Amino acid sequence: MHTDPSCVFCKIVAGQIPSRKLYEDDEFLAFHDIAPWAPVHFLIIPKAHWVSMADLSPAQEAMMGRLMMLAPRLALEAGCRPGPEGGFRMVCNTGAEGGQEVLHLHWHVMGGPRPWARG
Ligand code: 5GP
Ligand code: ZN
Repeated sequence: MHTDPSCVFCKIVAGQIPSRKLYEDDEFLAFHDIAPWAPVHFLIIPKAHWVSMADLSPAQEAMMGRLMMLAPRLALEAGCRPGPEGGFRMVCNTGAEGGQEVLHLHWHVMGGPRPWARG
């Protein structure tokens, strides 16, 4: 598995930086965002160091599928409400103009009662 020793999220995967973990398997880690925008705000990351979605190839198609199936389940477990009156927002900032600050692929999952701090 590719990792980058200088990457903050690789350090979280390695346990060198503490995080409030929600979920972990061989491939993904989910943990609460340190600066939440919403009552529920967590990040899902692949454990392998991919810079962004723009870094992926067709070899990652199955990983992307698993991620998309995992996100709604974790959103409910984290406290997002089910049904049309609940829901969540999933964001994947990609590249500088996409607003990406941490250069390790991650999806924000945000939800909970409005208003939110941002967004
Ligand atoms: P980006 O702008 O790259 O999409 O978002 C990066 C997110 O990572 C930000 O929401 C920021 O609060 C979060 N973040 C950055 N460093 C850490 C950290 O060390 N721990 C946790 N839990 N979140 C972090
Ligand atoms: Zn990384």
